[in-house]
Amino acid sequence: MVFMKSMNTHNRGFTLAELLIVIAVIGVLVAISIPLFTSQLAKAREAACLSNRDTLYRHIMIDLISDPSITVDDDLLAKYESQDGAHCPSKGIYKIKKDEAKGTFSVACSKHTGETGESSPSDALTKTGLSTEIIDLLKNYDEIATENGYKPVSTYDSGAVGLNTRTDEFLNLLKKYNLALDADQMKTWQFDRSNSFFYWTPVDISNLPVSNKQTIPVLRYNLKTATYTVWIADVTSGDKIVNDGDYKVLSGYQKYEPSTNENSKQQTYENASKHLQNALEKYKHS
Ligand SMILES: [Zn+2]
Repeated sequence: MVFMKSMNTHNRGFTLAELLIVIAVIGVLVAISIPLFTSQLAKAREAACLSNRDTLYRHIMIDLISDPSITVDDDLLAKYESQDGAHCPSKGIYKIKKDEAKGTFSVACSKHTGETGESSPSDALTKTGLSTEIIDLLKNYDEIATENGYKPVSTYDSGAVGLNTRTDEFLNLLKKYNLALDADQMKTWQFDRSNSFFYWTPVDISNLPVSNKQTIPVLRYNLKTATYTVWIADVTSGDKIVNDGDYKVLSGYQKYEPSTNENSKQQTYENASKHLQNALEKYKHS
């Protein structure tokens, strides 16, 4: 009997009072932890939302820098939202918020605060690899074109210039931004603003006959990725714009491939320049 009683005591479980205390403690813990957890979750959602909006902002900014004529609106934003899969985790609605006075924009969320974008537009431009001065120069060229009754073009080149100052301006800018480029050798250049490609070659295409199709080696600098590659470009005759003179442009680019295993090394200026010299030797003897 003593044994039975003792056993009974050891396995009696919880008293009602003990259970009530446990339940009360759990209740207090739940009361504290749920708001803590949900506020952490809300913070995480807010941070994810801002990060997504930053992605969209940068995407639009890169496009805008390449082509300042694009319209920044909610339609463009919606396109990138689905393309980048960048949505608000709290199902907020994204809209473009413009500051007309400053000439800036940001991506706003209907459910979250926090501004997208850099502290200043010039910071944003620097981060995309294009300097504000290059952009200003392009805008200036657009204005000149508009004043003369032409639409702003997607490429600028030495052949289309008609204004000698343009090449000098570009050269000086590129030098200033340490784009490793042998300015003395450069006779022909082209800047493709939509892709941010800058091409140049020591070959002076203005003296080449237009009638015979010519292909020449050019060096390409990708301003977005800061990499160099050698290309073969066709020389074609362009429209007459200034002084009624013929001008020739670079077009129809084809990647120059010295050999498959060497090709992947053409990312630095030194490597690409070496391949350009080889390509020029072949060009001279052809
Ligand atoms: Zn949001």
